Amino acid sequence: LGAAEAREMPADRDKSGMIRIGSNECWTGPFPAGIAAGEAAVRLGNRYEPTHMRRTLIENVAAVENVPASHILPWPGSSDPLSRVIVTFCSPTRGLVTANPTYEAAWRTADWLQAKSTTVPLKAANRYAVDVRALLAADPHAGVYYICSPNNPTGTLTPIADIAWLLDNKPAGSIVLVDEAYIHFAGTQSAASLVTRSKDIIVLRTFSKLFGMAGLRLGLSLAHPETHQKMMRYDGANQSGTLSIVALAAGGASVLRAQDIVARRNEMIAAREETFAFLKKRGVSFIPSQANMFMIDWKKPAAPIRQAFAAQNIDIGRSWTLWPNCSRITVGSAADMKAFCGALDKIVA
Ligand code: PLP
Repeated sequence: LGAAEAREMPADRDKSGMIRIGSNECWTGPFPAGIAAGEAAVRLGNRYEPTHMRRTLIENVAAVENVPASHILPWPGSSDPLSRVIVTFCSPTRGLVTANPTYEAAWRTADWLQAKSTTVPLKAANRYAVDVRALLAADPHAGVYYICSPNNPTGTLTPIADIAWLLDNKPAGSIVLVDEAYIHFAGTQSAASLVTRSKDIIVLRTFSKLFGMAGLRLGLSLAHPETHQKMMRYDGANQSGTLSIVALAAGGASVLRAQDIVARRNEMIAAREETFAFLKKRGVSFIPSQANMFMIDWKKPAAPIRQAFAAQNIDIGRSWTLWPNCSRITVGSAADMKAFCGALDKIVA
């Protein structure tokens, strides 16, 4: 795309005109403050790290999250540290335990490592929170207990008290990994408050979701420095060269925008709740969510329904093997969700 064309294109459409509510991205781009900081950083692109942008990001996150700067590591997204935690703390003799359905990246890395993956089904009885006691019982000697909260794909939260219980009761030498990719959409208490209490918890964050920076690539891990050191065995603790200054600058400016964060969350909640009201009226079954995604239970195979939406130029999300009748829907803009509801009436009338 030329620059002019890109500027004219609404943020929630790609060139094909497809409405993208399938990948849990944000319906809009970075905050204006993030864009301005990123644009300024582009001009300094001849230098590796010219103005301490990495340090500024860390200091800003420390101030906002009330976590010591020593416990914060930036990454190009959260996928890399997620895999590293599995590689570092799982092995053929110490497995991974997760809920199901959840974000599968941890399982994939565990499979590659030939570490055993054990899963515990999410249940309606506790509103699809991760049952931490069942997680521990499923493998009392695991290397990593992975909790995604809010969970992808259900958007459901696991209470911090339960995560703290797991941290207090898990076996020695194992890690509680809390993936908070969607926490800003929930606006609830974060497990970040636990990283100064124990060396055995790692919290992951990303700028790919509410901050609208998926393509810019920036994420964070929050953990004790000794725990981070274990994840950095082959590239040293400063990851020189892996982070773009554009992402660092945009992220560093964005984390301080408390009002923008709340406004974006509220915009998403309004679109989500309007969609939920519509689904209720139509008698379509769904799981209430605290994040920018939710699961619809079509009560019949979801794959053909996804294709039918694609034929209407709407990319809805995929299914999980455990729940083949359910589709994950990302909450897009109000206009996206209106289009989704209109198409739903045509497809499942
Ligand atoms: N964790 C969860 C739960 C996700 O849903 C995703 C992306 O969809 C990621 C991690 C990885 O995202 P990124 O590498 O863009 O931070």
